[in-house]
Amino acid sequence: MKIAVIGTGYVGLVTGTCFAETGNRVICCDIDEEKIEGLNLGRMPIYEPGLETLVDKNTKQGRLRFTTNIKEAVRASDVIFIAVGTPMSRTGNADLSFVKEAAETIGKHLNGYKIIVNKSTVPVGTGRLVASIVRHHAKGNVAFDVVSNPEFLREGEAVRDTMQMERAVIGTDSSRAFEIMEEIHRPFRTKIIHTSIETAEMIKYAANAFLATKLSFINDIALICERVGADVDQVSEGIGADSRIGKSFLQAGIGYGGSCFPKDTAALHYLAKINGFDFKMLEAAIETNFRQREDFVAKIEKTLGSLEGKVISVLGLSFKPNTNDVRYAPSLDVIPMLREKGAMVKAFDPAAISRAKRQLGYQCSYTDDIYEAIQNTDACAILTDWDEVKSLDLNKVKNLLKEPVIIDGRNVFDLDVMAQLGFTYVSIGRPAVT
Ligand code: NAD
Repeated sequence: MKIAVIGTGYVGLVTGTCFAETGNRVICCDIDEEKIEGLNLGRMPIYEPGLETLVDKNTKQGRLRFTTNIKEAVRASDVIFIAVGTPMSRTGNADLSFVKEAAETIGKHLNGYKIIVNKSTVPVGTGRLVASIVRHHAKGNVAFDVVSNPEFLREGEAVRDTMQMERAVIGTDSSRAFEIMEEIHRPFRTKIIHTSIETAEMIKYAANAFLATKLSFINDIALICERVGADVDQVSEGIGADSRIGKSFLQAGIGYGGSCFPKDTAALHYLAKINGFDFKMLEAAIETNFRQREDFVAKIEKTLGSLEGKVISVLGLSFKPNTNDVRYAPSLDVIPMLREKGAMVKAFDPAAISRAKRQLGYQCSYTDDIYEAIQNTDACAILTDWDEVKSLDLNKVKNLLKEPVIIDGRNVFDLDVMAQLGFTYVSIGRPAVT
């Protein structure tokens, strides 16, 4: 199959590469010239385990290429995936300007029957909107079908999540398009769920809203645990062992971030509102998530006293480990809050410094040496559970810190171990070690 992928970000690059790996001829395109130039020189724009090897292999074998010439990519392909960003707009709704632009480009260059697949996360109704834009710009009577095929990959595990996808949702009312989509997905040997376009679009928002709510639920339970002397990690283990509940997304912590949950929960909340439904439960989940950041900073303040003139090492800038993505990362909220309270911040991250710098600028100093970040600071604040954090030599940390104080937003360390080592250790939803 000849495939074009419009938008070579986390989703587009991984999807395009995996489709090449399964034998298709794929052109990944983007309007970002620097990104495409870099990819053509073998430079990865994102940090994603296993991706570079696959890109290298498939470009060398001639199945994968990169271009800014979207017109040529559209004309040369049978199936065109839209994988552009859909960021949060000021109203909370998804900003569809990139999707509309991609649809317009596709419409202008249609030269025969094509399947236009929307992989970007979009509000219900966008598939029909894409169809109307394409139709408007297509010259003559060119046939095409629009499919909604939402993406469920997780950053940091994106290649594995694609090569071993748990399900593919294919939303279309065209049997011709469905059969071709089924064929593309056959090598992944995955469960196919065939729905209407609208239902497919809703599945993606419902999935993310559910996971975000699950996280906020356990974070609320964590705060109650702190008040009553229970341990939220054991509560999670206890309830997660029940197959009706499941153990994933029950890790209490500083709250979710990333390019998906914050914007997708906001967009679903907006979609409900404009359709006359007050989605109170989702609103509460969103509020709880922000409260976790505030509560974390309050924990630091409660432990250290006034933060004026204190130096805090922040461990982790990316919103989760194994990615350099800092979109809506806890660090972007927590560091300004610490600064506002008069603290100085030394930040560590193994992959996300350059992206974080674009957002945080000079609000903190940066290093990719974890011990350098910790040295001579009043406390460590753990925001991302990178392996470098989990494998810290705690005796060394104790010697480097002015006082042995760790405030942990990811519940990385064992309470008994921290007590034995003599740390003041405050985590989320577990008894504090003092
Ligand atoms: P991204 O910002 O990493 O990449 C989007 C790319 O699209 C950018 O490189 C941008 O330059 C390019 N682009 C924008 N307009 C274009 C145009 N008109 N023509 C060509 N290229 C264009 O975004 P992402 O994280 O890959 O997300 C893409 C979509 O997938 C979003 O809707 C997102 O919600 C969804 N999604 C993301 C993830 C994730 O983990 N990142 C997971 C599931 C779904």
